[in-house]
Amino acid sequence: METNVSAEKALQFLLGNCPAGGQERVALPDSLGRVLDEDIRAGEDIPQFDRSPLDGYAFRAADTLRAGEDNPLILEVIEEVPAGYTPSKAVSAGKTIKVMTGAPIPEGADAVVKYEETLEKGNTVSLFQAFRSGQNIVRAGEDVMKGQIVARKGSVVNPPLIGLLAALGISEISVFRRPRVAVVSTGEELQDLGEELEKGKIRNSNSYSLAAYISELGGEPLVIGTAGDKAEEVAVLMKRGLAEADVVMTTGGVSVGDYDVVQDAVRLAGAEVLFWRIDMKPGSPTLAALKDGKLILGLSGNPAAGMVVFQLLASPLIKKLAGRAEYLWQRIEVLLKEDFRKNSPRRRYLRGRLVWEKGTALMEFTGGQGNDVLSSLIECDLLAEIPAGSGPLKAGEKLEALLLK
Ligand code: AMP
Ligand code: MG
Repeated sequence: METNVSAEKALQFLLGNCPAGGQERVALPDSLGRVLDEDIRAGEDIPQFDRSPLDGYAFRAADTLRAGEDNPLILEVIEEVPAGYTPSKAVSAGKTIKVMTGAPIPEGADAVVKYEETLEKGNTVSLFQAFRSGQNIVRAGEDVMKGQIVARKGSVVNPPLIGLLAALGISEISVFRRPRVAVVSTGEELQDLGEELEKGKIRNSNSYSLAAYISELGGEPLVIGTAGDKAEEVAVLMKRGLAEADVVMTTGGVSVGDYDVVQDAVRLAGAEVLFWRIDMKPGSPTLAALKDGKLILGLSGNPAAGMVVFQLLASPLIKKLAGRAEYLWQRIEVLLKEDFRKNSPRRRYLRGRLVWEKGTALMEFTGGQGNDVLSSLIECDLLAEIPAGSGPLKAGEKLEALLLK
């Protein structure tokens, strides 16, 4: 077991022990937010045929060579084709077919004029300018060519992709199974929602925020329950989690106090501890263990500390488990918008919000930075890193930050 590891090393431990996800097929309308487990190739062109992008007339561009404001070209209209129908005739010299937006381009025609730029009279129409071949025609395959990869394995299905797949006639796709993540909370002091709060007790908030984070990441939370501060009790719930889920997350009981029982529980469950404690603040009391290829992540009970470490470590892990090709947070440089007065003997993560001023990325604090201050995570979209050994920081100081979006 390693102790006091860097945040980078802790992440490596988790990602390095991340099992491959299973697959399932889902109907296209149910696929929003799911992760593709295969590259998708277009089986046909989109659009399937050359078509008109506007209401107008299709003709031969060569006919218009000498057409001009004072020299109108008069064409005979031989047919009218609405969208959804195909022309029955071909266009030859001196002839034109009226086409509506989306209608196929008739054989023989190679240009379309906008309805508003013509003059209609009986069964003829006048054009007042020259056209080049291909003008105002949307070519087959302009959007997507048959054989082209339209989406890659590991990408998250979004609304335009659903539309594109529908356009290609794909009604069902293969995606990664949602990773199942068990949540176990520990602490004699915890009470659940709906119970009258007794003196000295607190409500369990971690189970709820963790379950919500897990869902948001495309995982399936399994809230196993709450154990008291006895290793045996924690081990029972942990084992249940291991049996039913891909990963187990616990909160509380993982620091050095007398009642910190998660380490003992991990051993009772027959798991091997990978590391205990991370060299950072908040969230130093964190543990990871492995049992038969399944990870157990023990987070601090302090709501903010636990959730900051969740963002840092569990979020990339769940995204990777979910099959996402991109699972790491992006990092950006930000300038502090206000002073931070404390020393940071160890690496510290600050909760804040990204604000732009004259094109510069600044970080504004979202509230208190204490281990138990959960409210400052609500609007938090940046976790800025203060290097270990730093003194107080002044506004304007440059920091690297994880962009939590
Ligand atoms: P622990 O990590 O068990 O030492 O707990 C640290 C602090 O977090 C204590 O004040 C606990 O009461 C609190 N805490 C532990 N678990 C939870 C939870 N599930 N929800 C809210 N607060 C908790
Ligand atoms: Mg506790």
